[in-house]
Amino acid sequence: MSENMIKVSKVLILEDNEDDADLLCRELKKSGLNFIPKIVQKQDEYETSLIEFLPDIIVSDYSLPSFDAVTAFQIKQSLSPLTPFIIVSGTIGEENAVELINSGVSDYVSKSNLFTLSAKIHRALKDAEIIREKLISDEKAKVQAEELMVANRELLLQNKEKEKRTQELRRANELLIDEKEKVRRVNQELSKLNTELEDRVAARTKALANSEIRFRNMMETIPQIAWTNTVKGEVDFYNQRWYDYTGLDDAQTRLSGLTSVIHPDDLKESLNQFGFLRKSVDGGEFQIRARRTDGEYRWHLIRLIPIKNVNGRTRQWVGTATDIQELKALQQHKDDFISIASHELKTPITTLKASLQLLDKMKDNPSQTMLPKLITQANKSLEKVYVLIEDLLNTSKENEDQLQIKQIKFNLLKIITECCENLSGDGIFKINVQGDPTLEVYADVVRTEQIVINFINNAMKYAPDSKEIEVRVEQQAGMAKVSVIDKGAGIPTQNLRFLFDRYYRINHGGSEYTGLGLGLYICAEIIKKHHGLIGAESEIGVGSTFWFTLPVA
Ligand code: ADP
Repeated sequence: MSENMIKVSKVLILEDNEDDADLLCRELKKSGLNFIPKIVQKQDEYETSLIEFLPDIIVSDYSLPSFDAVTAFQIKQSLSPLTPFIIVSGTIGEENAVELINSGVSDYVSKSNLFTLSAKIHRALKDAEIIREKLISDEKAKVQAEELMVANRELLLQNKEKEKRTQELRRANELLIDEKEKVRRVNQELSKLNTELEDRVAARTKALANSEIRFRNMMETIPQIAWTNTVKGEVDFYNQRWYDYTGLDDAQTRLSGLTSVIHPDDLKESLNQFGFLRKSVDGGEFQIRARRTDGEYRWHLIRLIPIKNVNGRTRQWVGTATDIQELKALQQHKDDFISIASHELKTPITTLKASLQLLDKMKDNPSQTMLPKLITQANKSLEKVYVLIEDLLNTSKENEDQLQIKQIKFNLLKIITECCENLSGDGIFKINVQGDPTLEVYADVVRTEQIVINFINNAMKYAPDSKEIEVRVEQQAGMAKVSVIDKGAGIPTQNLRFLFDRYYRINHGGSEYTGLGLGLYICAEIIKKHHGLIGAESEIGVGSTFWFTLPVA
């Protein structure tokens, strides 16, 4: 209400009677309505006012001279449908009024009850206001709804876009995961490969180290001097035996090396040989004399062998020097032995041949006094040949380990005494046998005799001045011991230990002593078979004692 008090309402009054119009205005003023009136009578005025005056309410007389309230109402409906329309009349019946209100007229006021007009105007204005507000709010709501719809559509679109993006993202993510998995697998394979490679490298390194150790061990355990050469010919390793043999230390070795120990006479040839071998495919060998730390030059067999890589190319040389001094001496011995053996055999055979030739000449004259002498001579020569051959046979038998012994129990003194009865060297020597007459041994009779005969023969041969030879039989340390003692010139101590070696003979400086150097060797072999001992003691100018032991029975 208070709003209406302030608010100025524009009231369009459709009335042909001026008095009525005044009355109406007065009534409205009286009610306190703050308003601007506009009074019109004709249709065209009315229509223009509707558009230009823009009334808040229309108050119309029912019957007008030019047109009527119903037409005015219809015009208003088409031009300004929300503006309230109140009819004021004294002539309209109740029925008409109801019909008018039903068709949309806001209200009806009888001219006789004009004081109700202001209240009705108020109400109509309020209703119109409410309707307008509602329309406005409806419009607003509609606009909001539309905006909401638009926003919703936008949101939907955005959502769709978002979903699309999400899907793309998901797909990209899946691809990424796939890629990641691939990378992981590749990484795994790579690390496996890496591990495998590392393992292989480690195994190879270990194998190499092992083979290096094995190689070094081998180089250190072989009995030879050994070294390795690079392909260029530099020596990059010597085994310990080199340092032991030459007495050179590392620095001296580096300074002078292999050539410094070679005998001056062998140097040129050996340098040639080294050069020649290093150009060869399979290496080879040659002989030199190399100086030992004590200054002695000893013969060595030098061997140079190439170590090849997988392609068959030489990557290193291994050299060895084998001490062949003993071998050389043995060879020398053998050569000497053959010439001695030939000579030894030739001498009695020449005598035998001469005797036989003479005998042949005398075969028609058997009464010749020379005949028995020649026969004895021939027999002696034959015997010598026989003994020599026997020795040789024994040696070779021994070689093949065929020296058989037949052990029996017998009285040692008795057997030795009997055997010595036939040995007196044509009565030049006196052999004196003495000892324990009860001593029984378990041995080969013939072989025991063979040893005693050998000792006595040697005494006669190498100690001719000793006219008396003593043979002693005794028991010692649980064994039976036989010693043959002469009073000859004796044997130098340094020669004693070689006496029982095969082919060993002492150079006596003359050709009076013949022999093959086999007798004592065979004796030693026989005693070995009996598990006994054999030996010799000697003193220069005093004489020698040769002895052996046999198991007692
Ligand atoms: P062979 O008599 O055939 O030379 P042996 O083996 O019987 O061979 O003797 C070896 C060496 O021992 C002889 O060359 C000799 O020099 C030395 N020998 C052996 N017995 C005696 C001895 N009683 N006195 C001095 N030297 C001896």
